[in-house]
Amino acid sequence: MRALDDLYDRLSQRNSDALGYPAAKDFDCTPLLRFLQLPLNNVGDPFAEGTYQVETRAIEREVLAFFADLLRAPAGDWWGYVTNGGTEGNLYGLYLARELHPGGIVYFSEHTHYSVSKNLHFLGMRHIMIRAQENGEIDYDDLRETLKIHRDVPPIIFANIGTTMTEARDDVSRIVEIMNSLAIHQRYVHSDAALCGAYAPLLDPRPSFDFVDGADSVSISGHKFLGAPMPCGVVLARKHNVSRIARSVDYIGSLDTTISGSRNGFTPLVLWHRLQTLGIEGVRERARAALEVAAYAVEQLRAAGVPAWRNANALTVIFPRVPDELRDKWQLATQGAISHFIAMPGISKEHVDALVEDMRCSALR
Ligand SMILES: *Cc1c(COP(=O)(O)O)cnc(C)c1O
Repeated sequence: MRALDDLYDRLSQRNSDALGYPAAKDFDCTPLLRFLQLPLNNVGDPFAEGTYQVETRAIEREVLAFFADLLRAPAGDWWGYVTNGGTEGNLYGLYLARELHPGGIVYFSEHTHYSVSKNLHFLGMRHIMIRAQENGEIDYDDLRETLKIHRDVPPIIFANIGTTMTEARDDVSRIVEIMNSLAIHQRYVHSDAALCGAYAPLLDPRPSFDFVDGADSVSISGHKFLGAPMPCGVVLARKHNVSRIARSVDYIGSLDTTISGSRNGFTPLVLWHRLQTLGIEGVRERARAALEVAAYAVEQLRAAGVPAWRNANALTVIFPRVPDELRDKWQLATQGAISHFIAMPGISKEHVDALVEDMRCSALR
Protein backbone atom coordinates (compact mmCIF):
# COMPACT_ATOMS: atom_id res chain seq x y z
CA MET A 1 0.00 0.00 0.00
CA ARG A 2 1.42 3.33 -1.09
CA ALA A 3 0.61 5.21 2.11
CA LEU A 4 2.40 2.59 4.18
CA ASP A 5 5.44 2.58 1.90
CA ASP A 6 5.74 6.34 2.16
CA LEU A 7 5.29 6.28 5.91
CA TYR A 8 7.87 3.52 6.30
CA ASP A 9 10.43 5.39 4.21
CA ARG A 10 9.91 8.60 6.12
CA LEU A 11 10.14 6.90 9.52
CA SER A 12 13.27 4.97 8.53
CA GLN A 13 14.93 8.24 7.63
CA ARG A 14 13.79 9.97 10.82
CA ASN A 15 15.08 7.01 12.83
CA SER A 16 18.46 7.18 11.23
CA ASP A 17 18.69 10.94 11.97
CA ALA A 18 17.53 10.72 15.59
CA LEU A 19 20.48 11.57 17.85
CA GLY A 20 18.87 13.14 20.89
CA TYR A 21 16.57 10.56 22.47
CA PRO A 22 17.52 7.39 24.34
CA ALA A 23 16.44 4.72 21.85
CA ALA A 24 18.90 2.02 20.79
CA LYS A 25 18.55 1.22 17.09
CA ASP A 26 20.63 -1.92 16.73
CA PHE A 27 17.94 -4.55 17.33
CA ASP A 28 16.59 -7.14 14.92
CA CYS A 29 13.16 -8.57 15.72
CA THR A 30 12.57 -10.38 12.44
CA PRO A 31 12.83 -13.85 14.07
CA LEU A 32 9.87 -12.84 16.23
CA LEU A 33 7.55 -11.62 13.48
CA ARG A 34 5.29 -14.69 13.43
CA PHE A 35 4.35 -14.05 17.06
CA LEU A 36 2.59 -10.90 15.91
CA GLN A 37 -0.09 -13.17 14.42
CA LEU A 38 -1.13 -14.28 17.91
CA PRO A 39 -3.29 -12.40 20.44
CA LEU A 40 -0.64 -12.66 23.15
CA ASN A 41 -1.65 -11.39 26.56
CA ASN A 42 0.26 -11.84 29.82
CA VAL A 43 -2.75 -10.78 31.89
CA GLY A 44 -2.14 -10.81 35.63
CA ASP A 45 0.86 -11.76 37.71
CA PRO A 46 3.86 -13.24 35.84
CA PHE A 47 4.46 -15.77 38.62
CA ALA A 48 0.91 -16.96 39.23
CA GLU A 49 -1.01 -19.47 37.14
CA GLY A 50 -3.66 -17.95 34.89
CA THR A 51 -6.51 -19.39 32.86
CA TYR A 52 -5.59 -17.69 29.57
CA GLN A 53 -2.74 -19.55 27.91
CA VAL A 54 -1.84 -17.53 24.83
CA GLU A 55 0.92 -15.90 26.80
CA THR A 56 4.69 -15.67 27.29
CA ARG A 57 4.95 -15.52 31.04
CA ALA A 58 7.59 -18.27 31.28
CA ILE A 59 9.79 -16.15 28.98
CA GLU A 60 8.87 -13.06 30.99
CA ARG A 61 10.10 -14.76 34.17
CA GLU A 62 13.44 -15.50 32.48
CA VAL A 63 13.80 -11.84 31.56
CA LEU A 64 12.98 -10.83 35.14
CA ALA A 65 15.51 -13.33 36.51
CA PHE A 66 18.20 -11.82 34.30
CA PHE A 67 17.49 -8.36 35.71
CA ALA A 68 17.18 -9.67 39.28
CA ASP A 69 20.69 -11.03 38.91
CA LEU A 70 21.99 -7.83 37.28
CA LEU A 71 20.45 -5.67 40.04
CA ARG A 72 21.55 -8.03 42.86
CA ALA A 73 17.97 -8.61 44.05
CA PRO A 74 17.73 -10.72 47.22
CA ALA A 75 17.54 -14.44 46.31
CA GLY A 76 14.02 -15.75 46.85
CA ASP A 77 12.71 -12.34 47.85
CA TRP A 78 12.17 -10.46 44.60
CA TRP A 79 9.20 -9.99 42.32
CA GLY A 80 8.57 -7.97 39.19
CA TYR A 81 6.99 -7.77 35.76
CA VAL A 82 7.56 -6.48 32.26
CA THR A 83 5.93 -3.05 32.07
CA ASN A 84 4.91 -0.68 29.30
CA GLY A 85 7.98 1.41 30.08
CA GLY A 86 9.86 3.30 32.75
CA THR A 87 6.90 5.45 33.72
CA GLU A 88 4.76 2.44 34.67
CA GLY A 89 7.65 0.95 36.66
CA ASN A 90 8.04 4.22 38.53
CA LEU A 91 4.30 4.37 39.19
CA TYR A 92 4.44 0.82 40.53
CA GLY A 93 7.38 1.63 42.83
CA LEU A 94 5.64 4.69 44.23
CA TYR A 95 2.35 2.82 44.62
CA LEU A 96 4.07 0.07 46.59
CA ALA A 97 5.84 2.66 48.74
CA ARG A 98 2.55 4.41 49.47
CA GLU A 99 0.83 1.17 50.49
CA LEU A 100 3.72 0.38 52.85
CA HIS A 101 4.01 3.92 54.21
CA PRO A 102 0.68 5.70 53.86
CA GLY A 103 1.36 9.34 54.62
CA GLY A 104 5.05 9.05 53.71
CA ILE A 105 6.72 11.97 51.97
CA VAL A 106 8.34 11.49 48.57
CA TYR A 107 11.68 13.24 48.02
CA PHE A 108 13.09 13.74 44.58
CA SER A 109 15.43 16.17 42.91
CA GLU A 110 14.39 18.99 40.66
CA HIS A 111 15.81 17.12 37.64
CA THR A 112 13.42 14.22 38.00
CA HIS A 113 11.58 13.01 34.87
CA TYR A 114 8.42 14.96 34.02
CA SER A 115 6.21 11.87 34.49
CA VAL A 116 6.89 11.66 38.22
CA SER A 117 4.82 14.66 39.28
CA LYS A 118 1.90 13.18 37.32
CA ASN A 119 2.39 9.83 39.08
CA LEU A 120 2.45 11.55 42.47
CA HIS A 121 -0.71 13.38 41.55
CA PHE A 122 -2.44 10.07 40.64
CA LEU A 123 -1.37 8.59 43.92
CA GLY A 124 -2.10 11.69 45.98
CA MET A 125 1.28 11.52 47.68
CA ARG A 126 2.92 14.32 49.63
CA HIS A 127 6.24 15.28 48.13
CA ILE A 128 9.15 17.66 48.49
CA MET A 129 11.48 18.66 45.71
CA ILE A 130 15.17 18.73 46.57
CA ARG A 131 17.75 20.95 44.94
CA ALA A 132 20.10 19.45 42.37
CA GLN A 133 23.78 20.07 41.87
CA GLU A 134 25.14 21.64 38.70
CA ASN A 135 25.60 18.23 37.01
CA GLY A 136 22.02 17.15 37.77
CA GLU A 137 22.73 14.92 40.79
CA ILE A 138 20.69 15.44 43.94
CA ASP A 139 22.08 17.93 46.48
CA TYR A 140 22.81 15.68 49.46
CA ASP A 141 23.06 18.60 51.91
CA ASP A 142 19.63 19.88 50.95
CA LEU A 143 18.27 16.33 51.22
CA ARG A 144 19.77 15.87 54.69
CA GLU A 145 18.45 19.19 55.98
CA THR A 146 14.98 18.53 54.59
CA LEU A 147 14.83 14.98 55.96
CA LYS A 148 15.87 16.30 59.37
CA ILE A 149 12.88 18.63 59.51
CA HIS A 150 10.44 15.78 58.75
CA ARG A 151 12.01 12.97 60.77
CA ASP A 152 8.65 11.85 62.10
CA VAL A 153 7.33 10.96 58.59
CA PRO A 154 8.70 7.97 56.63
CA PRO A 155 10.69 9.20 53.63
CA ILE A 156 10.14 7.69 50.21
CA ILE A 157 13.22 8.44 48.15
CA PHE A 158 12.77 8.63 44.41
CA ALA A 159 16.37 8.35 43.17
CA ASN A 160 17.40 9.26 39.63
CA ILE A 161 19.85 6.86 38.10
CA GLY A 162 20.46 8.90 35.03
CA THR A 163 18.43 12.12 34.92
CA THR A 164 16.65 12.81 31.66
CA MET A 165 18.70 15.82 30.58
CA THR A 166 22.20 15.13 31.94
CA GLU A 167 22.18 11.43 32.90
CA ALA A 168 23.27 12.30 36.45
CA ARG A 169 23.08 9.45 38.96
CA ASP A 170 22.04 9.91 42.57
CA ASP A 171 24.15 7.80 44.93
CA VAL A 172 21.75 5.48 46.76
CA SER A 173 24.36 4.30 49.32
CA ARG A 174 25.03 7.89 50.25
CA ILE A 175 21.31 8.60 50.63
CA VAL A 176 20.91 5.50 52.81
CA GLU A 177 23.83 6.68 54.97
CA ILE A 178 22.13 10.03 55.46
CA MET A 179 18.93 8.32 56.61
CA ASN A 180 20.92 6.01 58.90
CA SER A 181 22.73 8.94 60.47
CA LEU A 182 19.36 10.56 61.20
CA ALA A 183 18.10 7.25 62.69
CA ILE A 184 15.35 7.09 60.08
CA HIS A 185 14.53 3.39 59.70
CA GLN A 186 10.97 3.50 58.35
CA ARG A 187 11.75 4.38 54.74
CA TYR A 188 11.56 3.33 51.13
CA VAL A 189 13.94 3.84 48.19
CA HIS A 190 12.94 3.56 44.53
CA SER A 191 15.57 3.79 41.79
CA ASP A 192 14.44 5.23 38.46
CA ALA A 193 17.06 3.65 36.21
CA ALA A 194 15.12 4.07 32.96
CA LEU A 195 18.09 4.59 30.67
CA CYS A 196 21.09 3.39 32.71
CA GLY A 197 19.70 0.41 34.58
CA ALA A 198 20.55 -2.03 31.81
CA TYR A 199 24.23 -1.10 31.62
CA ALA A 200 25.20 0.79 34.80
CA PRO A 201 25.71 -2.47 36.77
CA LEU A 202 28.43 -3.39 34.27
CA LEU A 203 30.40 -0.16 34.74
CA ASP A 204 33.52 0.25 36.80
CA PRO A 205 33.04 1.90 39.24
CA ARG A 206 29.52 0.49 39.57
CA PRO A 207 27.01 3.28 40.30
CA SER A 208 25.22 2.73 43.60
CA PHE A 209 21.52 2.12 42.96
CA ASP A 210 20.60 -1.56 43.20
CA PHE A 211 19.05 -3.78 45.89
CA VAL A 212 22.31 -4.40 47.75
CA ASP A 213 22.94 -0.65 47.77
CA GLY A 214 19.56 -0.11 49.42
CA ALA A 215 16.86 0.19 46.73
CA ASP A 216 13.49 -1.42 47.47
CA SER A 217 12.38 -1.25 43.83
CA VAL A 218 14.02 -0.46 40.51
CA SER A 219 12.45 0.53 37.19
CA ILE A 220 14.22 0.19 33.82
CA SER A 221 13.03 0.96 30.29
CA GLY A 222 13.53 -1.85 27.78
CA HIS A 223 13.33 0.25 24.64
CA LYS A 224 16.10 2.59 25.73
CA PHE A 225 19.47 0.90 26.17
CA LEU A 226 18.54 -2.65 25.13
CA GLY A 227 16.35 -1.54 22.24
CA ALA A 228 12.86 -2.63 21.23
CA PRO A 229 10.40 -1.75 18.46
CA MET A 230 7.88 -0.56 21.04
CA PRO A 231 8.08 0.89 24.55
CA CYS A 232 8.56 -1.63 27.35
CA GLY A 233 10.41 -1.97 30.64
CA VAL A 234 11.02 -3.99 33.75
CA VAL A 235 10.18 -3.27 37.36
CA LEU A 236 11.54 -5.29 40.28
CA ALA A 237 10.66 -5.02 43.96
CA ARG A 238 11.18 -6.92 47.23
CA LYS A 239 8.69 -9.77 47.26
CA HIS A 240 7.74 -9.58 50.94
CA ASN A 241 6.62 -5.99 50.33
CA VAL A 242 4.61 -6.94 47.25
CA SER A 243 2.89 -9.83 49.06
CA ARG A 244 1.44 -7.38 51.51
CA ILE A 245 -0.64 -5.75 48.79
CA ALA A 246 -1.44 -8.66 46.44
CA ARG A 247 -5.08 -9.45 45.77
CA SER A 248 -6.49 -12.54 44.09
CA VAL A 249 -9.02 -12.18 41.27
CA ASP A 250 -11.30 -15.05 40.31
CA TYR A 251 -12.09 -13.87 36.76
CA ILE A 252 -8.49 -14.25 35.50
CA GLY A 253 -7.59 -17.01 37.99
CA SER A 254 -4.55 -14.99 38.95
CA LEU A 255 -3.25 -12.24 41.19
CA ASP A 256 -3.97 -8.62 40.37
CA THR A 257 -0.51 -7.36 41.26
CA THR A 258 0.32 -5.38 38.13
CA ILE A 259 -0.82 -1.87 37.18
CA SER A 260 -2.16 -2.86 33.77
CA GLY A 261 -4.55 -5.81 33.69
CA SER A 262 -3.99 -7.10 30.16
CA ARG A 263 -0.28 -6.91 29.55
CA ASN A 264 1.91 -7.07 26.47
CA GLY A 265 2.98 -10.63 25.69
CA PHE A 266 5.23 -9.61 22.81
CA THR A 267 7.63 -7.26 24.62
CA PRO A 268 8.87 -9.97 27.05
CA LEU A 269 9.71 -11.96 23.94
CA VAL A 270 11.60 -8.99 22.48
CA LEU A 271 13.61 -8.49 25.67
CA TRP A 272 14.28 -12.22 26.01
CA HIS A 273 15.49 -12.44 22.41
CA ARG A 274 17.70 -9.38 22.96
CA LEU A 275 19.28 -10.89 26.04
CA GLN A 276 19.67 -14.33 24.44
CA THR A 277 21.44 -12.98 21.38
CA LEU A 278 23.61 -10.43 23.22
CA GLY A 279 24.40 -12.27 26.43
CA ILE A 280 25.82 -10.32 29.35
CA GLU A 281 29.11 -9.89 27.51
CA GLY A 282 27.28 -8.47 24.50
CA VAL A 283 25.49 -5.94 26.72
CA ARG A 284 28.83 -4.97 28.28
CA GLU A 285 30.49 -4.59 24.87
CA ARG A 286 27.64 -2.43 23.55
CA ALA A 287 27.99 -0.16 26.60
CA ARG A 288 31.75 0.11 26.03
CA ALA A 289 31.28 0.97 22.36
CA ALA A 290 28.52 3.52 23.09
CA LEU A 291 30.60 5.22 25.80
CA GLU A 292 33.41 5.49 23.31
CA VAL A 293 31.10 7.29 20.86
CA ALA A 294 30.00 9.62 23.69
CA ALA A 295 33.63 10.44 24.55
CA TYR A 296 34.35 11.02 20.87
CA ALA A 297 31.40 13.41 20.61
CA VAL A 298 32.64 15.52 23.55
CA GLU A 299 36.10 15.65 22.03
CA GLN A 300 34.89 16.61 18.54
CA LEU A 301 32.40 19.18 19.76
CA ARG A 302 35.03 20.84 21.93
CA ALA A 303 37.45 20.87 19.03
CA ALA A 304 34.75 22.70 17.08
CA GLY A 305 34.47 25.28 19.86
CA VAL A 306 31.28 23.91 21.46
CA PRO A 307 31.60 23.65 25.28
CA ALA A 308 30.23 20.09 25.47
CA TRP A 309 30.45 17.92 28.60
CA ARG A 310 29.08 14.70 30.06
CA ASN A 311 28.84 13.05 33.45
CA ALA A 312 31.34 10.27 34.23
CA ASN A 313 30.52 7.11 32.26
CA ALA A 314 27.44 8.66 30.68
CA LEU A 315 26.12 8.33 27.14
CA THR A 316 24.51 11.77 27.26
CA VAL A 317 26.50 14.72 25.93
CA ILE A 318 25.29 18.18 26.93
CA PHE A 319 25.92 21.46 25.12
CA PRO A 320 24.36 24.93 24.90
CA ARG A 321 20.91 25.06 23.32
CA VAL A 322 21.09 24.57 19.55
CA PRO A 323 19.12 26.63 17.00
CA ASP A 324 15.68 25.21 16.24
CA GLU A 325 16.61 23.98 12.76
CA LEU A 326 19.38 21.81 14.22
CA ARG A 327 17.16 20.66 17.03
CA ASP A 328 14.57 19.50 14.52
CA LYS A 329 16.98 18.00 11.99
CA TRP A 330 18.72 15.74 14.56
CA GLN A 331 15.84 15.52 17.04
CA LEU A 332 18.04 16.92 19.81
CA ALA A 333 16.10 17.04 23.07
CA THR A 334 16.28 20.61 24.31
CA GLN A 335 15.26 22.12 27.62
CA GLY A 336 15.92 25.68 28.70
CA ALA A 337 19.55 26.56 28.01
CA ILE A 338 20.77 23.08 27.07
CA SER A 339 20.41 20.46 24.35
CA HIS A 340 21.78 16.94 24.37
CA PHE A 341 23.01 14.15 22.15
CA ILE A 342 22.80 10.56 23.41
CA ALA A 343 25.28 8.02 22.09
CA MET A 344 22.85 5.11 21.95
CA PRO A 345 23.91 1.78 20.43
CA GLY A 346 23.36 2.04 16.69
CA ILE A 347 24.75 5.60 16.54
CA SER A 348 28.20 5.79 15.02
CA LYS A 349 31.08 8.24 14.96
CA GLU A 350 29.96 9.18 11.43
CA HIS A 351 26.68 10.43 12.87
CA VAL A 352 28.66 12.48 15.36
CA ASP A 353 30.81 13.89 12.56
CA ALA A 354 27.73 14.97 10.63
CA LEU A 355 26.24 16.62 13.71
CA VAL A 356 29.49 18.42 14.56
CA GLU A 357 29.81 19.65 11.00
CA ASP A 358 26.29 21.07 11.14
CA MET A 359 27.01 22.79 14.43
CA ARG A 360 30.20 24.25 13.05
CA CYS A 361 28.34 25.67 10.01
CA SER A 362 25.52 27.00 12.12
CA ALA A 363 27.99 28.78 14.44
CA LEU A 364 29.55 30.49 11.41
CA ARG A 365 26.27 31.95 10.33
C1 LIG B 1 12.69 7.83 29.86
C2 LIG B 1 12.67 8.07 31.32
C3 LIG B 1 11.53 7.78 32.09
C4 LIG B 1 10.26 7.30 31.47
O1 LIG B 1 10.43 6.09 30.88
P1 LIG B 1 9.45 5.63 29.69
O2 LIG B 1 10.03 4.30 29.36
O3 LIG B 1 9.59 6.66 28.62
O4 LIG B 1 8.09 5.56 30.25
C5 LIG B 1 11.59 8.00 33.45
N1 LIG B 1 12.70 8.45 34.03
C6 LIG B 1 13.81 8.75 33.32
C7 LIG B 1 15.02 9.24 34.05
C8 LIG B 1 13.84 8.56 31.95
O5 LIG B 1 14.93 8.85 31.26
